[in-house]
Amino acid sequence: MADMFNSIRWRNADPDMAERSADVIRTLLRHGHEAYWVGGCVRDEYMGRRVSDMDITTSALPEVTCSVFPKVIPTGIKHGTVTVLMEGQSFEVTTYRVESGYEDHRHPTEVAFVRDVKEDLRRRDFTMNAMARGIDGSWVDPFGGRADVDRQVIRCVGDARLRFREDALRMVRCIRFASVFGFSIAVHTWRGILSERDTLSWIAMERIRSEFEKILTGPAPLRGLEMFVRSGLYTRMKAPFPYTGLDTQAIEAMNRIEPEQSTIRWTLLLLACGISAQAAEGLLRSWTFSNKQREAIVKLLALHESYLQGQEEDTKSARLQWIKLVLFHGAEAAQSWLHLQTALNQTGAASASLSVIEQLEGWLRELRIRSLKDLAITGNELLEALDKRGGPWLGELLGQLLEKAAAGLINNDKESLIEEAKRVVIHNEGL
Ligand code: ATP
Ligand code: MG
Repeated sequence: MADMFNSIRWRNADPDMAERSADVIRTLLRHGHEAYWVGGCVRDEYMGRRVSDMDITTSALPEVTCSVFPKVIPTGIKHGTVTVLMEGQSFEVTTYRVESGYEDHRHPTEVAFVRDVKEDLRRRDFTMNAMARGIDGSWVDPFGGRADVDRQVIRCVGDARLRFREDALRMVRCIRFASVFGFSIAVHTWRGILSERDTLSWIAMERIRSEFEKILTGPAPLRGLEMFVRSGLYTRMKAPFPYTGLDTQAIEAMNRIEPEQSTIRWTLLLLACGISAQAAEGLLRSWTFSNKQREAIVKLLALHESYLQGQEEDTKSARLQWIKLVLFHGAEAAQSWLHLQTALNQTGAASASLSVIEQLEGWLRELRIRSLKDLAITGNELLEALDKRGGPWLGELLGQLLEKAAAGLINNDKESLIEEAKRVVIHNEGL
């Protein structure tokens, strides 16, 4: 179909996503409304970064958007946001709007729809995020976003102090963008942070953590953390950031860990701040981590602490000691710890040398029996064989059998395990 609204080619977006989002824009245009791509996707395309999602801003009121498309979800209709579903893709379509009355330094109390896309862009946080593009590739860039991207600067739209006072999370976003993109922060914007930093205490830890996660999994976490400390923001969070100086080698080791391995990256951060496994437990709770991630990080720190408590000299005892660590903290934590130590070796801050790591890795690989469920006997079967009643001694006995079987000191079959169990029981009762 010949179309008066030929679309631009997106170089950094999935072609299907780009085409479907262009359909959304075309449909709005045909109904006589204005519509543009806006925000992160426009910025990322200009920067040559991968575009992950595509947001659209329009002059159409939310009810109108809903009536124009067959499949919509009224995601945040009060604030003007409608999710449009288009052949398996989904897009947030938001009516041009301005916000006012940020009484809690976070949530605007009033939202008003406006007629001019430039007004909508003005409410956005940074110049690079306040750009829109039309279907034909035309630019709406009233605050010099492209020039700032070219100069590699993060700059607030309008007066930085006011913008941070409205929404304190923007200060953390500012540092996150500077860190992830390797940009500097404009002088006035930086001064704005220094002047408004106390308002950070209003922000939910959940939101700060999610920005932090992006700093940590980005290409230069050290840079972001330094800015976070230098700005003084780190002392203003709701939950503490117990910083007593950074072990920069530990932070640099983050770059050697794949971004998806965020558990290891978080562990490195806690290690760099000298935080114990026990302290991490409470800290990660207050930072609103999921139970699963918190437990994984704490296990990793605990294994690290156990390892540091001292290594056996001769190979046989060292192997046994390592196997005990693996059984106690879990093979997953052990694997992650070896990965972490390998990274630390490259920055010169490791607790285990590469040859030691290689040996421990080998022992871990060979380990066939890793937990009680791998043992060829159950607690009940043991009780029966020994003709005894259960009690705390049973868990202890199972633990001993597990260690010996894992280390290969006894065979992992019922007969051998029962034999060993009897030997241990007689020995203990003889005492
Ligand atoms: P990314 O998705 O890469 O983390 P983004 O810029 O797309 O970055 P989003 O949170 O997806 O960030 O927000 C989309 C757009 O909404 C931003 O580009 C910006 O224009 C605007 N925006 C987001 N958060 C704020 C905020 N706290 N204050 C003002 N504008 C914001
Ligand atoms: Mg985004």
